[in-house]
Amino acid sequence: MSVEHFDFIGAVDTYFDQAAAHTKINKGILEQIKACNSVYYMKFPVKIGNDYKVVEAYRAQHSHHRMPTKGGIRYSEHASQEEVMALAALMTYKCALVDVPFGGAKGGIKINPRNFTEGQLQRVTRRYAFELAKKNFIGPGIDVPAPDMGTGAREMSWIMDTYVSFNPGENAIGCVTGKPVTQGGVRGRTEATGRGVYYGLKEICSYEKDMKELGLEPGLEGKKVIVQGFGNVGYYAAEIIHDNGGIIVGVAEYEGAIYNPEGLDPRAVLKHRKETGSILNYGNGAKDIKDSLSCLEQPCDILIPAAIEGVITKKNASKIKAKIIGEAANGPVSPEGAKILTKRGIMVVPDMYLNAGGVTVSYFEWLKNLSHVRFGRMNKRFNQASFQNILGVVEDFTGRTLTDKEKEAVTHGGDEIDIVNSGLEETMIGAYAQIREQLKRARNVHDLRTAAFMVSIKKVASAYENLGVFP
Ligand code: GLU
Repeated sequence: MSVEHFDFIGAVDTYFDQAAAHTKINKGILEQIKACNSVYYMKFPVKIGNDYKVVEAYRAQHSHHRMPTKGGIRYSEHASQEEVMALAALMTYKCALVDVPFGGAKGGIKINPRNFTEGQLQRVTRRYAFELAKKNFIGPGIDVPAPDMGTGAREMSWIMDTYVSFNPGENAIGCVTGKPVTQGGVRGRTEATGRGVYYGLKEICSYEKDMKELGLEPGLEGKKVIVQGFGNVGYYAAEIIHDNGGIIVGVAEYEGAIYNPEGLDPRAVLKHRKETGSILNYGNGAKDIKDSLSCLEQPCDILIPAAIEGVITKKNASKIKAKIIGEAANGPVSPEGAKILTKRGIMVVPDMYLNAGGVTVSYFEWLKNLSHVRFGRMNKRFNQASFQNILGVVEDFTGRTLTDKEKEAVTHGGDEIDIVNSGLEETMIGAYAQIREQLKRARNVHDLRTAAFMVSIKKVASAYENLGVFP
């Protein structure tokens, strides 16, 4: 699934410029918004067996218009300064779009985590966290990393532990998000990006008029979906869409892809991959596709690239059969590819919106850490008692007594997971309304990405007005 060199910064800047041209914002302010404020490039030695390996790593902070800065850390052989800078810029626009009050950042460690033991990975991660701390590049009010490609809750707990050892304090655990729930994490963070993809697509598909223009029926139910990338984002997106009536017809991974127009069960596919080490030979009526990238060209209604950047370009954009492309990955579609898709009447749902669920729930985790209280702890029982009182009055009034199951459904007070998911859904619905409204209002703008960029740029610009300029 690897792609040739992709000019990621060039792509993000092109998208930015296309949108900026439709605004009346001062040129200097636009230049400041676009610029990456700081990048820390580091090299450090890590002892692997009897050898010393020099590890290259990065952390880019794109914008300090809101603090802290925020964004994941990716472990990948392809990590580079250009890549983290492009990803950090996307984080700025993403956070602004969904009203998460952070600047954008991103980190990368240039390793293939599969080639390291757990102990070695721990050493690399802790050393990276230590380097960040030494240069004041991490902290609950400074820069707050999170999981990205190749990292998860385990890495975040190592980062937290390293940071807290050197900087103890009541808010110290807010230095990183995506932590295990037992270590200050929030329920629902692991699946948040995938769940956000589902909420976003569900919202988009609910507009009858928009669906008609695409030649589709309204509603996500019954839609045929191909997912590229079966990692944390792609897997949960597939599972939640499947559980809510969507039909997952194709799954692509780097070793190959499988396709079944009748539908695949994401849980069974994951189990098969875990057991055999490959997605191929899944059976159950699915056909194997050896050339993984060509799976993107199979028939479906919605195509969800959830792996890496630059997978849909001018080379394959004309062969895509989907009517909607949901960018769950960051930067999966190149500007030339996007142009072809838009011309063909295909709707591209931009990354900065569709995958914002991860950072949104990271924001909730950070709030939980700073407030030192679990969501739902203060009001769950109170709400439950109030609902029970109301229900009692209704039962008296109507003469009908509800069953215990019905009562539970009506009076249930929100647990942490309920509150997190409802906050996430509200965020995805609210942000889409802003993008759609902007698209309707702007003249000569025909795609959701340009509209989304316009919304973000205006928000960041308003944060700069009259500020940060020293005479
Ligand atoms: N890595 C995720 C992203 O690209 C999440 C970042 C975060 O939670 O800070 O949006």
